[in-house]
Amino acid sequence: MIPKDIRGSQSPIWRPFTQMKGAKDPIKVLRGKGALLELEGGEVVIDAISSWWVNLFGHGKKEIAQAIYDQSQRLEHVIFAGFTHEPAEQVALELTEMLPEPLSKVFFSDNGSTAVEVAMKMAYQSFQNRGEEKRCRFICFTGAYHGDTIGAMSLGERNIFNRVFEKLLFDVDFVPYPDSKEKEEYVLSLLEEKIDETVAAVAIEPLVQGVGGMRMCSSDFLQKLRALTEKRGALLIFDEVMTGFGRTGELFACLKARVDPDIICLAKGLTGGFLPMSVTVCTDEIFEAFLSNDRLKTFFHGHSYTANPLGCAAALATFKLLREDRSFSEMEEKHLRLAAPFRDHPLVREVRVCGTIAAFELQGSHGYLSEIGNELADAFLKRGVLVRPLGNVLYFMPPYCITEEQLDLLYQVLHEALLQRLECSCP
Ligand SMILES: *Cc1c(COP(=O)(O)O)cnc(C)c1O
Repeated sequence: MIPKDIRGSQSPIWRPFTQMKGAKDPIKVLRGKGALLELEGGEVVIDAISSWWVNLFGHGKKEIAQAIYDQSQRLEHVIFAGFTHEPAEQVALELTEMLPEPLSKVFFSDNGSTAVEVAMKMAYQSFQNRGEEKRCRFICFTGAYHGDTIGAMSLGERNIFNRVFEKLLFDVDFVPYPDSKEKEEYVLSLLEEKIDETVAAVAIEPLVQGVGGMRMCSSDFLQKLRALTEKRGALLIFDEVMTGFGRTGELFACLKARVDPDIICLAKGLTGGFLPMSVTVCTDEIFEAFLSNDRLKTFFHGHSYTANPLGCAAALATFKLLREDRSFSEMEEKHLRLAAPFRDHPLVREVRVCGTIAAFELQGSHGYLSEIGNELADAFLKRGVLVRPLGNVLYFMPPYCITEEQLDLLYQVLHEALLQRLECSCP
């Protein structure tokens, strides 16, 4: 038990995305196994959101734990400028084999936001290095989320989470995220207008926009976006921090959409949910813009823990699991079958499924401050399921190891929680 006097605002911990005034005591987790978490007090809950989308093959996965332990006995960390190690070399090799062929140079960092910062800086500097100084703008999508650092926030939707920093963010152009077939043509016509010789890159969360509410766009749109950026000489950045490593039912959204971006950002699932690490992978062409006798054309970026060997060992174990266990490619069909009855539910406005992700947009007000999500989260927790709705969008994104029974239970609980809402008199 956490002693009473260090709970609430007495705790020395300042929590993420949390108004600490009057914050509910966080729930202490004792251990995790597969898709399950054991809480203090003995309750066991299903982790239906893969612990903020990072976990792939379940908690406590032996193969990953063992790989990290073994690596820690050889080399826990070493400076990565001027030195290298086998796990990093191997990660780069295997990643570039998994990704579309043009993506061939791997830059390591520590989290998704930073992977996006690196992508932005790479894109921007590649044009500066070539003397195309005018290409310095970014085009992004409404509802986008690319992380919490100042640069990554600049590419994201302006909303209540970053409003206070508005003056610090740099200007980007936004176009609507085409989350329905009807919007595509309009968005493409806007892009036709906006992508001119001042645009360095277009950044997008391909197929599924995560934090924005699990909104989905089509492969067809992404292909047209690729053709247009190519024609206009702008780079295309795929932020696959969430969609990477099987989440969309294929290893990467770019493979599912059959689109080769110029830069891809990967994090979250990269280490199977064990350690913080990320990569930004780019084409030879971008890389070559930095090759020069002029020292100023160097990519001056790096972090203390760049390419941490333990993270790399976790990533290699994760890649091996991804080759051996294709369960992620079978979940879409199960979601579609189990979600079908909710399409006509009076409280459900739309059901969206892509790969391992199933989202339920509920009737009621939009936006993150919508109360329905929080109330549902409580109802789910009482029934043994951990969810964290995005405003009025409830979603399941479970670890790939979730059993048929556990998956059935998620939908059973959804049914009960919605029924309870319908029956209660509250609006
Ligand atoms: C989570 C996320 C990020 C930020 O990653 P962090 O590791 O939390 O910094 C960036 N882009 C997308 C699409 C994400 O889902």
